[in-house]
Parts: sequence; C-alpha cells; structure tokens
Amino acid sequence: MDKTAAIFKEFLKGRGLKFTPERKAVLREVFSLHRHFDAETLYQELYRKKVRISRASVYRTLPLLVKSGLIAETLRCQGKTSYEHIYGHGHHDHMLCIGCGKVIEFRSEKIEKLQNEICRRHGFKPVEHRLGIKGYCRECQRKIKMKKKLPLDSAE
Ligand SMILES: [Zn+2]
Ligand SMILES: [Zn+2]
Ligand SMILES: [Zn+2]
Repeated sequence: MDKTAAIFKEFLKGRGLKFTPERKAVLREVFSLHRHFDAETLYQELYRKKVRISRASVYRTLPLLVKSGLIAETLRCQGKTSYEHIYGHGHHDHMLCIGCGKVIEFRSEKIEKLQNEICRRHGFKPVEHRLGIKGYCRECQRKIKMKKKLPLDSAE
C-alpha cells in the first residue's frame, strides 16, 4: 500500500469508517490527476475508466480526503469547489480566472511573512491559510476588451 493509502486508511479507522473499494478508487484517481479538479471532473474521469462508483460516493469522499490532510480545497467559484492534492506539495496560493477557469499558482515570501506578522500582532497562532484571488487572466482580458471595444485599464 502506498503512503497516501496508508494515511487515508488510518484516518478512516480513527472515525470508525472503512477503506472501501470506492474510497480507494477516489483516492487513486485524485493522486493520478493534475493538480486542480472538481468533484464532477473526478466523477466523469472515473466513469470514463469504467470504475463503478456513484456520483454521491465521489462527492462524499472528497470532504473526507480534505479532513485527512491529503487534499485541500483551493477555490470556490460559481458554485464549484476545486481541490488539489497537497500531500508532498509545497504551500502555494492561487489566482482563478472567472472567465475561463484557469488557475495560476504563486508563492510570495513577502505575503507569507506579512501574514505571520499580522497573526503575531493579534496573538493568533496560524495553522493553515488559503489565499485566492479571483479575476481575469491575460487572454480573457483581451477577449473582453475586444468585445466591448473599451480599454480595461489605462496602462495598456
Ligand atoms: Zn500562502
Ligand atoms: Zn481566463
Ligand atoms: Zn494549487
């Protein structure tokens, strides 16, 4: 059994839950996917691979994977929650394009330090944070500009 399966199994055991074949399939698929995905994409992918699993099981398994610390919610946009696996990945934050759904990852030491500093000032001990910036990527800005024939900002 690989490390992620061992972690998930242990987590489930602690909650009196079983490491069922469905949960195993979701876990395997999550770790074989690219970084960001939502529940529906994951379900479609499993369906395409002819893994017998209900949509409900997929939707119910993801929050368990989040609680186990193997995956995290990245962003919520237009009623869709996207996830990524964080096990073995370094911390980073996200920009999400509301035009095309593209996700850009970034990490800024300045922001990380500043956040810790603000927490310290409030006597707050940070455990986890998620910074998400929603907006329009370069391509979408161009498209919008072309459609409206109005400059988005004066810089261009
Ligand atoms: Zn961060
Ligand atoms: Zn875009
Ligand atoms: Zn990410």
